[in-house]
Amino acid sequence: MFLTRWFGWALLFFSMFVASRGLADTPRLPNFVIIFTDDQGYADVGCYGAQGFQTPNLDRMARNGVRFTSFYVAQAVCGASRAALLSGCYPNRIGLLGAPNHRATHGIHPDEEILPELLKEKGYATAMFGKWHLGHRPPFLPTRHGFGVYFGLPYSNDMWPFHPETPSFYPPLPLIENERVIAENPDQTQLTTWYTERAVAFIRQNRDRPFFLYVAHAMPHVPLFVSEKFRGHSQQGLYGDVIEEIDWSVGQILQTLQELDLAEHTLVIFTSDNGPWLSYGNHAGSAGPLREGKGTTWEGGVRVPCIMQWPGRIPAGTVCHELAATIDLLPTLVRLAEARLPRRTIDGKDIWPLISGQPGARTPHETYYYYWNRELQAIRSGPWKLHFPHTYRSLDGPPGQDGKPGKYTQKRCGLELYNLEKDIGETNNVAEQHPQIVERLQELAQQARLDLGDSLQGITGKNIRPAGHVTE
Ligand code: MG
Repeated sequence: MFLTRWFGWALLFFSMFVASRGLADTPRLPNFVIIFTDDQGYADVGCYGAQGFQTPNLDRMARNGVRFTSFYVAQAVCGASRAALLSGCYPNRIGLLGAPNHRATHGIHPDEEILPELLKEKGYATAMFGKWHLGHRPPFLPTRHGFGVYFGLPYSNDMWPFHPETPSFYPPLPLIENERVIAENPDQTQLTTWYTERAVAFIRQNRDRPFFLYVAHAMPHVPLFVSEKFRGHSQQGLYGDVIEEIDWSVGQILQTLQELDLAEHTLVIFTSDNGPWLSYGNHAGSAGPLREGKGTTWEGGVRVPCIMQWPGRIPAGTVCHELAATIDLLPTLVRLAEARLPRRTIDGKDIWPLISGQPGARTPHETYYYYWNRELQAIRSGPWKLHFPHTYRSLDGPPGQDGKPGKYTQKRCGLELYNLEKDIGETNNVAEQHPQIVERLQELAQQARLDLGDSLQGITGKNIRPAGHVTE
């Protein structure tokens, strides 16, 4: 009798021990933090060559992880770029183009499955703080597409009654909490601080479960605003101050992860939505050696800084020169989260071998498409980039100053071939010297046109899908 009871207790304790060990040994799913800035140029981070301001936190993140030199957004404009990041698709595939304003009646289609939805399905806590731009009508808001919590601006921070050129066009700019407008024309000097405070609080609240945090700063998109704590902080006026405040924000997030012992469980990704808005002169950033900026398919428009850290999983201090893109984040993150891919076709590929520095890892993209709206303006394969004849905006006259833009002129580009490995600035058109490469890239472009369309050629793609629409 005594022995039986003793054996029973022993069995119970043994099984509890096994169960608790089992739980402790189950590796937790990783957390993800994506920090997405607005119109920050390729050279607007210290470790990418910034002059006149400091980004110690981003530089440290690069020393602790990997820095990409050939990282692309899908289109050089806010709305389309954000749609690509969250959907894993070229934005023309899902009908989200340009930078929709308050009049837009479209947004992300309810049948699209975007990153937060897929992670939420796996039990992730999800939050977004910042600029959305996938549709501001209720059915399109972040909370209807997988984010448990939302606080931020539904579209660009210049779409308000203080616009330097068209103030009377815009109604007051809404600041939204979940689905409720809580302020109009909010104090933009506080945006970076508010987003940061909420990001830190969200991490603390969810320290014991996997989470996905998306911080989409309004800055450094014009109009530039900075809080008192960073005013006059840099050597490069307001633009430099704004970047230094963003860097502080990155530091707050990294420090919180460290404090809570979450750094080793968290992949942190920093990148920008498109290149610098050059017509704003001293209120624009710099693309460094790259040609042109926002609103073009030259490298300065679409190639952006990108830094990732995950101690223990990403080797410290590495640099990746292979082509990777924001559309790749969805398939990469859902695989790391053991989640599923969307049911519909996407364009991104798993780039974990590049991120984690696997020896000999190569870009999964044989070709990368440079669309502007529905125009296929260029295509890249390996080091080669072929531009198709198109018009683009360029700054000929004086740049703008202190928040007032200069005037762009329209320029025309022909059939032009560049070797980006030798000529990152796209200065030397070598199309005549390499007719076979031009021909090969033309064939690859034809596949893009059949799939996604090309308004330059009057072709409608076979596999494009509509955006969601509401009637007003
Ligand atoms: Mg932008």
